[in-house]
Amino acid sequence: MALYKNGNELSHSTSAQFDAVHLPGAKVPHSGIYLCTNCRDEVACNAGDPFPPQNHRQHSTTKGDIRWKLLVQTQNGPPN
Ligand SMILES: [Zn+2]
Repeated sequence: MALYKNGNELSHSTSAQFDAVHLPGAKVPHSGIYLCTNCRDEVACNAGDPFPPQNHRQHSTTKGDIRWKLLVQTQNGPPN
């Protein structure tokens, strides 16, 4: 499970992009931390890159298909 220290630096969101499920190799839509809903592995991904492939490290085939879901979305800071 992802950890954080200062919750004041995180904002809750109800956006549907946190419900979307992504397959291995698909294009990452939003930069942030993603969770595999089957094996609970977490990865940091950059928008535009492919999601980690079928052989990502903790995922056993006995756990079913890899399903990446957005856990924490990163955002750009306000302009200076
Ligand atoms: Zn997995």
